[in-house]
Amino acid sequence: MRLTVIGTGYLGATHAACMAELGHEVLGVDVDPDKIAALRAGRVPFHEPGLPELIAQHTATGRLRFTTSYEEAAAFGQVHFSCVGTPQSKDSEAADLTYVDAVIENLGPLLPEGALVVGKSTVPVGTADRLAGRLAELAGPGAELAWNPEFLREGFAVADTLRPDRLVLGVRSARAEELLRAVYAPVIAAGTPVVSADFPTAELVKTAANAFLATKISFINAMAEVCEAAGADVSVLAEAIGHDERIGRKFLRAGVGFGGGCLPKDIRAFAHRADELGVSLAFLREVDRINMRRRDRVVELARDLCGGAVLGARIAVLGAAFKPDSDDIRDSPALNVAARLRLDGADVTVYDPQAMDNARKAFPLLGYALSAEEAVRGADVVLHLTEWPEFRELDPERLRTLAGRPRIVDGRGVLDAGRWAAAGWEFRALGRPAPG
Ligand code: NAD
Repeated sequence: MRLTVIGTGYLGATHAACMAELGHEVLGVDVDPDKIAALRAGRVPFHEPGLPELIAQHTATGRLRFTTSYEEAAAFGQVHFSCVGTPQSKDSEAADLTYVDAVIENLGPLLPEGALVVGKSTVPVGTADRLAGRLAELAGPGAELAWNPEFLREGFAVADTLRPDRLVLGVRSARAEELLRAVYAPVIAAGTPVVSADFPTAELVKTAANAFLATKISFINAMAEVCEAAGADVSVLAEAIGHDERIGRKFLRAGVGFGGGCLPKDIRAFAHRADELGVSLAFLREVDRINMRRRDRVVELARDLCGGAVLGARIAVLGAAFKPDSDDIRDSPALNVAARLRLDGADVTVYDPQAMDNARKAFPLLGYALSAEEAVRGADVVLHLTEWPEFRELDPERLRTLAGRPRIVDGRGVLDAGRWAAAGWEFRALGRPAPG
């Protein structure tokens, strides 16, 4: 089939490459000419394992192409996937739908009879219904809208697109469902469950899933707060409650909390939209507050380890990306903590295996090192804030010889406390007593 993918950011570039991998002819469209130039040259402007290979492979054969032209897109595609951003509005918790609207405004008037536009962005419930009305005004009754929310995780984006847990097809006609089933035929044939739904349900599946995940993380982080007050150990607590299959062990590790371009803005937009509908999701605001308090707690621990103030202290921050296997620094807890300590007068040096360029651009006043060892050299406190596998492999004995003072806060709850303590480190973790 001939598909277009409009918006070639994290979601769109991955979706375009994976649709080519499924055998479709794909045209990626973006308003950012630099991004399009990079993708045309087979370069992916962000870090995502496996994606550069896929893009290079399919741009080489011509099955995957990129353009900035909506005219070209409208003439080319039978199905148009809209993958543009829905960030938080500047002045409220609501989602900013400017880009989603712009796709319909730009594409709508150009579409031929029979075209299907498929929204993949995360949007407030009610958006698809509104956009369908606008599309009918612009393109006439021949063009149709569907909503097919995306659940991929950065760092696993290719695998998640080719082998998703489920496909959610928000459709208003049998024809729209048939077209989407044809697009995803190989994925469906591999046994992926398909859930067909009306527009509001399809939109809500995505926001409900993100709200649930955020709640699970904040739940264990709230337990970490209680453990800190009571002298208990949240890692043991999480393991014990996780043995209950109804609870499960995933997403139950206490730490500095979630960040990124999705969960924080999605739970805010969901609570805001629910208010508009007259339903209170006040608990999601508490989920957000618990999450932000964990960042405060890391700052507090760093301050305590420095004897009450960080002014003039040298602090090494291990991690800048909001999660491992990504260079995405949107709402990164690590950089948020680093910037706050810098504001309090600390001399902060950051190291991340992939996100250094993005971090430097966004936080030019922080110091940057080329390796974890270089960051730790002479540090008064080390903060472990992004769960990269290479940080787990660090040798506490060796780092002990480099640090100015051997003190570490494990903000991700994965380092071996006993081993670090045995190597002479003062070790602190969230929700756990200091090793005795
Ligand atoms: P992003 O900011 O990385 O990408 C958005 C892209 O859209 C940019 O390249 C931008 O230049 C382009 N764009 C903006 N306006 C445009 C227009 N009018 N026409 C064409 N292109 C335009 O965002 P993202 O992380 O890929 O997220 C996109 C959507 O997918 C959001 O709604 C997000 O919540 C959702 N989502 C993201 C992920 C993820 O892990 N990143 C996962 C699931 C869902």
